[in-house]
Amino acid sequence: KCIANQHANGLNAFITPLPRAGQWLDRVREADRRRDQGKQKSILDGRLVAIKDNICTRELPTTCASGILDKFASPFNATVVDQLEDAGAIVAGKTNLDEFGMGSHSTNSRFGLVKNSRRDKDGQDLSAGGSSGGSAVAVAADQCYVALGTDTGGSVRLPAAYTGTVGFKPSYGLISRWGVVAYANSLDTVGVLGKTTSSVRDVFSILNHYDERDPTSISARSRSRINTHLQTSRLASRLTSTPLRIGVPLEYNISELAPSVRQAWLMSLAHLQEQGHTIKTVSLPATKHALSAYYVLAPAEASSNLAKYDGVRYGTRHDGPDNDGNSDSYLYSNTRGHGFGPEVQRRILLGTFSLSADAMDNYFIQAQRVRRLVQQDFDSVFHASNPLATNDLDAGRPGSGDDVDVLVCPTAPSPPPRLSDITGNSAGSSPLNAYVNDVFTVPASLAGLPAISVPVTVTGSNQDTGTDGMTGIQVIGQYGDDELVMQVGEILE
Ligand code: GLN
Repeated sequence: KCIANQHANGLNAFITPLPRAGQWLDRVREADRRRDQGKQKSILDGRLVAIKDNICTRELPTTCASGILDKFASPFNATVVDQLEDAGAIVAGKTNLDEFGMGSHSTNSRFGLVKNSRRDKDGQDLSAGGSSGGSAVAVAADQCYVALGTDTGGSVRLPAAYTGTVGFKPSYGLISRWGVVAYANSLDTVGVLGKTTSSVRDVFSILNHYDERDPTSISARSRSRINTHLQTSRLASRLTSTPLRIGVPLEYNISELAPSVRQAWLMSLAHLQEQGHTIKTVSLPATKHALSAYYVLAPAEASSNLAKYDGVRYGTRHDGPDNDGNSDSYLYSNTRGHGFGPEVQRRILLGTFSLSADAMDNYFIQAQRVRRLVQQDFDSVFHASNPLATNDLDAGRPGSGDDVDVLVCPTAPSPPPRLSDITGNSAGSSPLNAYVNDVFTVPASLAGLPAISVPVTVTGSNQDTGTDGMTGIQVIGQYGDDELVMQVGEILE
């Protein structure tokens, strides 16, 4: 049924869907047989998992939605793909995305834009969110069971919010990035999309392991140290016996917040309160600079990462004659000019500029400072101190009494915009407009913290959601508190 769905509708969630009939069918039958014999490999045995097309797969091409990789076939699987296949999961095709993960609407793809499976009340097509829009739509439209995405600044959480699915970004370094095409290494994480938090947890538990091939992967020893640290900073029994303290960051209550989003936020807080949890307002003052810092740091890292696609070492070569008829004389610029789309070119220019000697101090270094302030803000409101902190200032101030266990806030400031408003030459189509959608997701990315977006349905007046009243609400936790973040997500879902 999933594969029929992949071929049936025009949502363009897949760059490479699975063929209607193929080897995968045998794998499903084998898994069925194992289940009948009670020898299931894991809870994912025989399940279809869609993979974002910036994650390498041996059997299917990996394009990153870019012209520069349109002929690329990876000789290996990413670690996450191997882990899923070892657990019996079946790769359900490669999903569409913003080129190299750069975008917030899944419209920057060499293979055409992704459409949300939800529509507004006038039947207009809506943004699927980005950059993992294909993965989110594949889940929402029953084209797979769960999907992998990547989240550098919100690319799993934003599409989850727009499509009404659950999207989880784990703490930085828990899931292997080996075989995942780098966008901004210090921020990149692999994330999971599913219909429910429980399906997302199943996938996370299979991927949440040390990988020696990823230099930023957290070692087994550090993992157990982090868990002990978090447990001792809370009584082990607290989660079941004591109410949680839920933080409401004041700075997220911006005037641009759509009424339906604010309503969903308030409803979620009321629901948590009804369950006996305590609500506290907290302040994260550096939040207002987080977005600008992100859009300096991410393009800077991207400009360096993408330098290798020059048509010699990597990338589809474009060596036709230049405008003066000289062939080969502009091999690099021809290759890069043809291979990269406009948003990727813009990021490369931005990043190269902010790393240049004259601009470095004013942009890159300042943005690094803001990043540190954002991290310190989070550490100062969480009850558990940061297990990765090397000094007291970074660790926060544990036990001060007005600290919280998790933060709850919207995932995005508005419901999904119409595609017609963000493509073409309309006023809403400027790149800056797209960047603003990431305002609530980038802070957790800059700090490397776990965060989940779950769909919350607003009842009553919901005109401005334009669809079914579904809005994404985000839960953010201290580093390593991934399980707690999922538990709170589950309460809200
Ligand atoms: N929209 C953000 C960007 O374009 C986030 C992307 C991501 O998380 N991959 O950079």
